[in-house]
Amino acid sequence: MTFLTQSEVTRETYWGISSTGYALFYLLTAMTIAIFAYGIYYRFSRYAEGSEDPFARLNDLPDRITSAARIALSNEKNFDRDLYGGLMHAFILWGFLTLLIATTILAVDDYASTFLLGESFWVGDFYLAYQFIVDALGLLFVVGIGMAIYRRYWVRNERLWGRHTAREDDIFIWTLFGLGVGGFALEGLRIYATGMPEHEVVSFVGYGLALAFGAIGIPLAGDPGLNPAAGLTGENLHWLAWWSHSLLAFFFIAWLPYAKPFHMIASFANVVTRDEKAGKRLPNVPADLDATNAESIDDFTWKELLDQDACTKCGRCSAVCPAKASDRPLDPRDVILDLKSYREERESGAEPQPIVADGGTSVIDSETMESCMACMACMDACPVEIEHLQSFTRLNRQLTDQGDVDPNLQEVFQNVMQHGNTFGNPARNRADWADDLAFELTDARTEHVEYLWYVGDYPSYDDRNKQVARSLATILQAADVSFGILFDDEKYDGNDVRRVGEEFLYVELAGHHVETFEDCEFDSIVCTDPHSYNTIKNEYPEVDFEAFADDPIMPFEYDEQWNADGEVDVLHWTQAIEALVTEGRLDLDGTLDYTVTYHDPCHLGRYNDEYEAPRELIRATGCELVEMPRNRADSFCCGGGGGGLWMDFDEEPKPSEERLREALEDTAAGEAVETFVVACPMCMTMYEDGRKTGGYEDAIEIVDVAELLVEAIEADEPTGIDRAQESPN
Ligand code: SF4
Ligand code: SF4
Repeated sequence: MTFLTQSEVTRETYWGISSTGYALFYLLTAMTIAIFAYGIYYRFSRYAEGSEDPFARLNDLPDRITSAARIALSNEKNFDRDLYGGLMHAFILWGFLTLLIATTILAVDDYASTFLLGESFWVGDFYLAYQFIVDALGLLFVVGIGMAIYRRYWVRNERLWGRHTAREDDIFIWTLFGLGVGGFALEGLRIYATGMPEHEVVSFVGYGLALAFGAIGIPLAGDPGLNPAAGLTGENLHWLAWWSHSLLAFFFIAWLPYAKPFHMIASFANVVTRDEKAGKRLPNVPADLDATNAESIDDFTWKELLDQDACTKCGRCSAVCPAKASDRPLDPRDVILDLKSYREERESGAEPQPIVADGGTSVIDSETMESCMACMACMDACPVEIEHLQSFTRLNRQLTDQGDVDPNLQEVFQNVMQHGNTFGNPARNRADWADDLAFELTDARTEHVEYLWYVGDYPSYDDRNKQVARSLATILQAADVSFGILFDDEKYDGNDVRRVGEEFLYVELAGHHVETFEDCEFDSIVCTDPHSYNTIKNEYPEVDFEAFADDPIMPFEYDEQWNADGEVDVLHWTQAIEALVTEGRLDLDGTLDYTVTYHDPCHLGRYNDEYEAPRELIRATGCELVEMPRNRADSFCCGGGGGGLWMDFDEEPKPSEERLREALEDTAAGEAVETFVVACPMCMTMYEDGRKTGGYEDAIEIVDVAELLVEAIEADEPTGIDRAQESPN
């Protein structure tokens, strides 16, 4: 029987391995590293072939890496809405990193310290601490993998399975499981076969297994009376486990760059290179646009290619997507992975296909893209910061260029081109909604105002939303602030036509507005609609007007970068009014006494992180506010974004109906909720529709925050506008 002499607290790294085995091990190591390195080189050289990304993504690298490390190590995105998934991923990640660091320490000790300096630091207390930590975190790793196996194969969590589920998913998880469990088995056999050294108690998992091996009577080579030909000795089993573990590790490392495990590298790179403003600002297109949309997979930028490789197939995006939930033909994960599969097929010699088109012959179908509400829920849920909307906009721009556009959208584009609004109504009627006000509105083009109020299309032309506009005018008047509008110089803001791919029309609208703003004197711009607020605040400052100013088709001459320094304050109206309430310029005495719930509009909440201003205002009316189960960043789109407002879909259920059901059945107050409060004209339109089609007319009322405020002000001091009595006109 061969026992390792433990004269000091450490262990022999290659115990039981012959010099031939040792040489073979290093040959395999060299081959594995070569295969791994080639795979990594291949992946990154492919990104280098991708087209240039319009956003700076490699600036401030130290900061980017630090914050990406914080996001990755904290697993904060994995914990979002999913405690089980967060713990599972945290255990796997922390365990994996610990084992990786431990292996690196061992390599440094072997090849630097011992080999070069003749002295090992892997002894004594350091060794004991090392062994304890490796066992503890290794155990966490195995538990995490066990949780993943349980969720995937036992519970069969629906979101983990999809069109792109493949054998590689099984191989990935079972290889990790084999490495974790095999590592402990190997450790246990080593401890057992080396005579249970006392100090190895710190390797508590391995020591426990060694005790178990003793209890079941696995023989050791030196045991008296043991047949020398006996195969199953502890030493032999250790040798077998050592090689199995090593070969599995070699396989995993060599395979890593070529399949699903690559997400471990790609996803970190993806988080490092993320755009903090992704989605809320879309990339510009050059004035001399030439095949920069999605004619071929080569048009995609390196970051869009990296997005595809970073996808872990976790399905978090699919699970929160309102288009998928309402049975529209869209799954955001599938779009990203369809593009990736097509790219890989092309690299393997497949014939080219149209990337996106109408009629089912392309990689992505136009109906899929039309289904997207641009709500950003997918991006908010994605743990690896995939920027779905950047790729989706590329696809939408391609559809627009090809003319594969839904007829309703086409009509909207025509209306905007001819009349400057999405309704196709005369521009001169834009401010007619104000005729019923008891006071005159100031023309912001001729007088200095504190607030330049960008009213927006729906509050200007849609009957139900005109009531909201009048309510907001009443509030601003009651607060005694100077405010004015642009009358027929206001046009549609362009936010949603941009999102469905009509970029040049968007630039035209943005150019017109910034030129108009420049001719006015005001302190801040206030928007009724979160969509207008988003694009004026985040996108107008980024448009390269200079590139288009000389274009005879563009109706503007403005050739600078508008609001480059952020000097012009752009606000959603709830932010402006909340500030007035806080400053004491508007009195709200909390006179209302019923129960309401509030729906966070995507463009105000997820897009721009404004959750509190509308809530503060609702509370100031005296109403009891009960939260929707899906609130703030988890809010569920009304279905109107991304052009959804203008198109017809076969949906079951409609997102608006589902949301009203949620308000009445899933909030803490249940059916006691009398009013569903919104802060967006598009939401108002969608929910008024959902209230009718879903049969909720008697159950709940849809009210804008502005209308609620007027009701509260009315209760104190009549203003002449009573939303309950006002009939739409
Ligand atoms: S933006 Fe919204 S609708 Fe579009 S894919 Fe993402 S979650 Fe779905
Ligand atoms: S895109 Fe993001 S959220 Fe969706 S499956 Fe891939 S990694 Fe998960």
